Amino acid sequence: MAEQESQEPISLALPLPWQGTMWQGFIERLDQGRLPHAMMLTGSPGIGLERIATAFAQRLLCTAELSKYACGTCKGCQLMMAGNHPDLTVLAPLEEGKAILIDPVRDLMSKLSKTAQQGGWKVALITPAEAMNINSSNALLKSLEEPHGKTLLILLSYRPSMVSATIRSRCQVQSLPLPDSAKATRWLAEVSGDLQLAEKTLEIASGRPLLALDYMQGGSLELRQNFEELINQVRQGGLSPMGAAQQCQKLNSDQMLDWFMNYLHRLATGELQNSPNPALFDFSDKLRKARGWVLSGSNINPQLLWEELFIDWLQVFRRRG
Ligand SMILES: [Zn+2]
Repeated sequence: MAEQESQEPISLALPLPWQGTMWQGFIERLDQGRLPHAMMLTGSPGIGLERIATAFAQRLLCTAELSKYACGTCKGCQLMMAGNHPDLTVLAPLEEGKAILIDPVRDLMSKLSKTAQQGGWKVALITPAEAMNINSSNALLKSLEEPHGKTLLILLSYRPSMVSATIRSRCQVQSLPLPDSAKATRWLAEVSGDLQLAEKTLEIASGRPLLALDYMQGGSLELRQNFEELINQVRQGGLSPMGAAQQCQKLNSDQMLDWFMNYLHRLATGELQNSPNPALFDFSDKLRKARGWVLSGSNINPQLLWEELFIDWLQVFRRRG
């Protein structure tokens, strides 16, 4: 079909440097014919679950023998690079935060029950699995119960506890840990060309390299650094809670509460690791509650909300003295 010529080419994915062990495990099981029919990969967002899953799906559909990664030249690879390999299905919500509905799952099931068009593997990637609603989960379950040969379902999940327990029990679950910080820093410094900024951003992103890259490229890094500076100033008494609240009221509360919780987490696991401060946990609860109000769409005065939070924040450290 002629319209393919104008399509943007898709590049083949490679696993990231901190994914070597998981990748090696995939390749060994593939070579030994021990792949399950369904696997669920879990981990934090921002560490490349989609990347390794895509790389593996592509490796399965590549027809070159004995290649560690998809070769990029065979017919299977060319179909993938053109973005239309008939035996690869990716199911994701149409919009972020929306559900994966039953119809696309049913279409996938019918596709998986037929012979592969290219004669090899049939692969489906479902991301994230927690986006499936009850109906789509039930529809998927049928196929997990009656697997067809040379079929692999790869489910990704950032919150596996939100995936139906029956589905989880039918999958081989593997979790990808947070990357080793030296590897993550080296990678981020290479991609961004700025070692210092890479180290700093990686810390802000709690060790999640792709999230850190997102911050560096998306421009929200500066906003976030300013916000953390504000938190520090209040903590050290250099800025009044009211003054800090004034600077916050025009910003996105939900986003800032998320940053604040993240900051607390780093504080508790870093600087205050050896001198735990119970008031920190109470405060963290307050942030969570505040976030609940904000997300519920309640009519909250942001100035008051932030004033109260910053007053409490100051108390966290006063009580210790
Ligand atoms: Zn190939």
